[in-house]
Amino acid sequence: MNDLVIIGGGPAGVAAAIYAARKQLKTVLITPEIGGQSSVSEGIENWIGTPKVSGTDLAKLLHAHLVAVSAGGGPASGGRNSTLTLALGETVASLERSSESFIVKTKAGEFPAKAVLIASGASRKRLEVPGAAKFENKGVTYCASCDGPLFAGMDVAVVGGGNAGFETALQLLAYAKSVTLIHRNREFKADPVTIEKALAHPNMRAIRNAEPTEVIGEQFVSGLKYKDKESGEIRELPVSGVFVEIGVMPNTNFAKNVIELDELRRIKVEPRNQRTNLEGVWAAGDATDELYHQNNIAAGDGVKALEDIYLWIKKR
Ligand SMILES: Cc1cc2nc3c(=O)[nH]c(=O)nc-3n(C[C@H](O)[C@H](O)[C@H](O)COP(=O)(O)OP(=O)(O)OC[C@H]3O[C@@H](n4cnc5c(N)ncnc54)[C@H](O)[C@@H]3O)c2cc1C
Repeated sequence: MNDLVIIGGGPAGVAAAIYAARKQLKTVLITPEIGGQSSVSEGIENWIGTPKVSGTDLAKLLHAHLVAVSAGGGPASGGRNSTLTLALGETVASLERSSESFIVKTKAGEFPAKAVLIASGASRKRLEVPGAAKFENKGVTYCASCDGPLFAGMDVAVVGGGNAGFETALQLLAYAKSVTLIHRNREFKADPVTIEKALAHPNMRAIRNAEPTEVIGEQFVSGLKYKDKESGEIRELPVSGVFVEIGVMPNTNFAKNVIELDELRRIKVEPRNQRTNLEGVWAAGDATDELYHQNNIAAGDGVKALEDIYLWIKKR
């Protein structure tokens, strides 16, 4: 029987796993990958203690720290006697109650545990208009840092007026001929300083009060249709790329039958200790109803949960 199963290898899950290893809890970390959402970011400038790090490098650092404290970490790691096992490349399909403990199931197997920490974060919301799915990876994309250079010298659109939308626009302005940001409301949601920086660029423009209605093209994207919400007119933007930044959805499907979620499918937690409504299950990071979504906050929530889990297990 494991003391703990941690679900997810983003900052929340990794931080908790490192603390669990140091406290010698028998722990399995189950995750398809290490790094989480900001792995695709070109530059993270607020990971405390690191003025700037790329998402890929941050993921490598998190992985290296885990390996150093996990079983099989190698002689130099001090991890040989570790109680932490990494189940990498695996995705949790269900979480079930089993008398006084829990069973976490993946395609590869079952992991029983006294306690569970859900740190499965969030995934990008898909654009749900005709043509968006058909042209995914043929002009419609969800990752500017991965695909931006493919659109060098072309006209592109960004859908979404939050920080992610404006940051994507700023990245694309380095390659694209022009960037048009489409936002469905009058007021942007991004930080004023980011908005100002993007809109100051001569190749950037923004269209407010505009709702995308269709992605069009033959083999590849040739345009984005949108509705002008003031006039009701449908207009067409001739673009070769559509970068979608319309928010995220929590990855909580596997837990929805056992844990209380809010109306946005986020796990409800007690903010002082990250406990869920179900005794023995904790949650941390972007999968929860935490107000702010940041790497440092997710890591802190993971640590907070682990401290509480440790005491709970020892008192059992
Ligand atoms: C493009 C981008 C740039 C960002 N830049 C910044 C930034 O500069 N600074 C900042 O502070 N924040 C940034 N953020 C926000 C930050 O990435 C998140 O707040 C943070 O990653 C949340 O961490 P988390 O561990 O809760 O979840 P996530 O990072 O979402 O990690 C979730 C983990 O769970 C795994 N998982 C998902 N489903 C399952 C399952 N069923 N079974 C097992 N594992 C599962 C995932 O593979 C992943 O490893 C950015 C986000 C994005 C999208």
